[in-house]
Amino acid sequence: MMNSHARDHILEALRQNPEISVLIIGAGINGIATFRDLALQGMDVLLVDQADFCSGASAASSHMIHGGIRYLENGEFRLVREAVRERNNLLQNAPHYVKPLATTIPIFKWFSGLFNAPLKFLGLLNKPTERGAVVIKIGLLLYDAYTRLQGTVPVHTWAFRKQSLEKYPQLNPAIKCTATYYDAMIPTPERLCIELILEAEAASPGARALNYMRVIATDKTSVRLKDEFGDEALLVKPKIVINAAGPWIDFANGALGLITRMVGGTKGSHLVLDHPQLHSALGGQEFFFENKDGRIVLLFPLMDKVLVGTSDLRIDDPSEARCTQEEVDYFLSMIEKVFPQIKVADADIVFTFSGVRPLPSSASSQTGQISRDHKIEVIEPGEQLDFPILCLIGGKWTSFRAFSEEVSNVVLERLGLKRLVSTEHLAIGGGRGYPRDDNARDALLTHWVEETALPRQRLITLFERYGTRFKEVASFIGAGRDEALREHAAYSRREISYLVREEKILHLDDLVLRRSLLAMLGELTPELLEELAQIVGESLGWSEEETHAEVKRTAAILQDKHNVSLGINRNNP
Ligand SMILES: Cc1cc2nc3c(=O)[nH]c(=O)nc-3n(C[C@H](O)[C@H](O)[C@H](O)COP(=O)(O)OP(=O)(O)OC[C@H]3O[C@@H](n4cnc5c(N)ncnc54)[C@H](O)[C@@H]3O)c2cc1C
Repeated sequence: MMNSHARDHILEALRQNPEISVLIIGAGINGIATFRDLALQGMDVLLVDQADFCSGASAASSHMIHGGIRYLENGEFRLVREAVRERNNLLQNAPHYVKPLATTIPIFKWFSGLFNAPLKFLGLLNKPTERGAVVIKIGLLLYDAYTRLQGTVPVHTWAFRKQSLEKYPQLNPAIKCTATYYDAMIPTPERLCIELILEAEAASPGARALNYMRVIATDKTSVRLKDEFGDEALLVKPKIVINAAGPWIDFANGALGLITRMVGGTKGSHLVLDHPQLHSALGGQEFFFENKDGRIVLLFPLMDKVLVGTSDLRIDDPSEARCTQEEVDYFLSMIEKVFPQIKVADADIVFTFSGVRPLPSSASSQTGQISRDHKIEVIEPGEQLDFPILCLIGGKWTSFRAFSEEVSNVVLERLGLKRLVSTEHLAIGGGRGYPRDDNARDALLTHWVEETALPRQRLITLFERYGTRFKEVASFIGAGRDEALREHAAYSRREISYLVREEKILHLDDLVLRRSLLAMLGELTPELLEELAQIVGESLGWSEEETHAEVKRTAAILQDKHNVSLGINRNNP
């Protein structure tokens, strides 16, 4: 019950004293990172999300922490320089969740797209095409130039057709060559988000985060919040509001009585495939290539599955984003283009997801060319509102820290405060004290085998899941009678209880979709969901009806948003 008590405690404190320095609307990566930065400066700041933490655009990314090589062509040099630096920082600060990723581009033409970049700079080209080897080579040389300074990842390499086919025998023999460069991936972005939140709350007693709390209205000085778990509205009086609602920014401004048109999002979908042959053909690398019309496709090993994405389609309401059959067909045809001998079918899909990029409002007909950079748009106080609103537009997952630092600096300046802490080289969560080589890792594990008496293999699993936070999880597990889950031996009852107690889980789907990869990797069965619901319910004090309702709710979300059918709602009306 620790979790709900903590929530009740926050709610009660806000009822007693509704005055806060900063209210952040939206707990995607940008709101969360700003929350952490402000908390580290010792500020009182409230972060709220209408749903769970990291459940919007931030849960729907391609899971790449990348410099954005293709933004060079749009002339976005500032963005690439910043993103490469942030990627390198994340490899150092969060090595438990951000891993280097070799990325191979199969190239089918020598010269295509040669004049794209100069023509784009001159504003004479508005239609992307598939790039040929020469253009890609120039792009990679430029990218290396940005990367080389910090030396965190190697420079690119080049292989001609024969050599490429030797290395990747399943590749389309029509290729001319392949280029391999290095970026990074983040298989569990949601977990990094929860760690940032917990760290922020620990850093400042005035830093408080509430999921399932929606901003619904304002009366000039106060903002009205609706708690999904309570009937009573909560009023807070902020000095500054940060609108970090991502693709919902204009909707959130609307709730505050303002009509704006700041973002014009595009939808991107992904598939997760259970396909060992394709997984093995990727050789542990990402494959990144372009369709004839310049649309990007990526194939990416996500644990033992394969992630495929992405599309870039205009959409009006971000809440409506779903992966359609048309997108599925398109992705499967793209896989066939690069690996023609590998047959992939709808039946291999274990999970789909879709989200909306919070791009700045733009009239461009080519969505790929809308800037991926970020900016702050300020709505000053006026007749309608007593407080300013800082709206966070755009941005990439990769550059969240730099963006949040910019936002915090504006806040600090407006409140006449000084920055106390820089986040640039600050380790995050289970990245703190992370062993730098295998020997150090082995020594750490040996120590914890003695400390907790848990089997070494179990500790390795926990280390891989939580980085150095495995110590806290293992201590909790070791302090009571535990057993492996009946339906999933790699998890145990006390591990699940730990997540519920410590990580602000309020619904069953928070656990299976965001605190773990259980749903995304296609590991859920009706029996496992029931078993998990019982354990979560015991910690949160759910009745039998509530437990059953949570199972149905999760199954409905999986069906509606992720094309996963567990058959639960059909069998148990
Ligand atoms: C398909 C796709 C692929 C991408 N791939 C990559 C990639 O590989 N690498 C990369 O670096 N970036 C990538 N991005 C970009 C990156 O994911 C986003 O820019 C980033 O996640 C935006 O985060 P955010 O916090 O601004 O928005 P969000 O994560 O959407 O957060 C906004 C939050 O606000 C909440 N909210 C809305 N209204 C209210 C309200 N009234 N009250 C309370 N809360 C509210 C929502 O519930 C939501 O959780 C991708 C994006 C997409 C969509």
